[in-house]
Amino acid sequence: MGSLSASYFERAQEVIPGGVNSPVRAFKSVGGSPLFIQSAKGAYLKDVDGKEYIDLIGSWGPMLFGQAHPSIENAVRDALSKGFSFGAPSYNEVLIAEKIVSMIPSIEKVRLVNSGTEATMAAIRLARAYTKRDKIIKFEGCYHGHGDSFLIAAGSGVATLGTPDSPGVTVSTAKDTLTAVYNDLSSLRNLFEANPTDISAVILEPVVGNMGLVIPEPGFIEGIQQLCKTYGSLLIFDEVMTGFRLSSSGYQGLTNIQPDLTTLGKIIGGGLPVGAYGGKAEIMNMIAPAGPVYQAGTLSGNPLATSAGLAMLNLISEHPEVYDALNQKGKALAEGIRQQLSELQIDGFVNQIGSMFTLFFTNKAVKNFSDAKTSDTAKFGIYFREMLNQGVYLPPSQFESWFLSAALDEAHIDHILKASRIALEKTLM
Ligand code: PLP
Repeated sequence: MGSLSASYFERAQEVIPGGVNSPVRAFKSVGGSPLFIQSAKGAYLKDVDGKEYIDLIGSWGPMLFGQAHPSIENAVRDALSKGFSFGAPSYNEVLIAEKIVSMIPSIEKVRLVNSGTEATMAAIRLARAYTKRDKIIKFEGCYHGHGDSFLIAAGSGVATLGTPDSPGVTVSTAKDTLTAVYNDLSSLRNLFEANPTDISAVILEPVVGNMGLVIPEPGFIEGIQQLCKTYGSLLIFDEVMTGFRLSSSGYQGLTNIQPDLTTLGKIIGGGLPVGAYGGKAEIMNMIAPAGPVYQAGTLSGNPLATSAGLAMLNLISEHPEVYDALNQKGKALAEGIRQQLSELQIDGFVNQIGSMFTLFFTNKAVKNFSDAKTSDTAKFGIYFREMLNQGVYLPPSQFESWFLSAALDEAHIDHILKASRIALEKTLM
């Protein structure tokens, strides 16, 4: 008898393009049929057929403390009892903005939106208005949501589907997005030299999650900031993934580098739809109604979303030890899988920082998108399917980061490592 997931997917494909509401969920690049999830708690996802999986996707990042954490659940229940959308200011919006400003030093003012995509779109509009320049520079394989300007050499689901330039993005939009090679300052310098007065901003994931996990080489981000200063361009950190995941002040908290603007999402919504962009007050004051740059949202600052986000940020403040604990788990997993690769003589390369992690099926150190693309995606598919079989739910693509949560304990890490050994052996058959 077929599974309920398979039958739901068949029905979904009749009424939803590709059967899913976000492409990478469809399992296209790993094969098989997607699971429909019924519920999630702590370290586990449960599908509609009743099977449980250790959750290493964490809703693509938000679930730092695991699924349905009681503090967040209670905050949302409490908010729900008071109504769930006002279209007028509410006190939680002030509280969450104050919290973000206090936690991320480069952010003096912040605007809430409903997704990471909205945040990045608004941030580049603002950068263009502030600098009175049109072009932006992004890095190949970085994903900044599905705004037209960013679907140029983009990572994540776009990389998985092999359609980096989406039809529907106009040639005139694409010409204002220049792309550099991640971890290669000279490629960025060349673009600046060729367009010295045209670049409004450089936007990047300071640690990249969307070509699989890729970590900046020493001096790379500092070099970008220096070039931005030299040419009068803004530096935008897209910390939708890394914000509050790598530290309580994001990637920037691990360094002394303060960007002009930062985009946030995922964790700041605690699992509800929220994004945000913020930065220097002088720049942010150009946003309407304080200034002329238009940006708005019917549901922006939604009371349920802000209550979930605020509960999440409070949890982080109350548990600063969470990052060390997550890093230890990340390291244990990375070391365990590296050892398995070497014992089984499999070409593989593991990148890990804190609770972000990717196993690439390649014999190359992965430092940029071209390196990532040398991975054997068919092997990843075999590995993914066997991990699922063994009760471990990974992001269904080679070009994504796994997200560890504080709900994982040593027994879970053991389970993941045992499953990984079996899955790696499968790739040899
Ligand atoms: N920026 C980064 C770095 C992301 O990882 C994502 C989503 O994965 C986005 C922006 C877009 O966020 P959203 O999916 O909430 O629109």
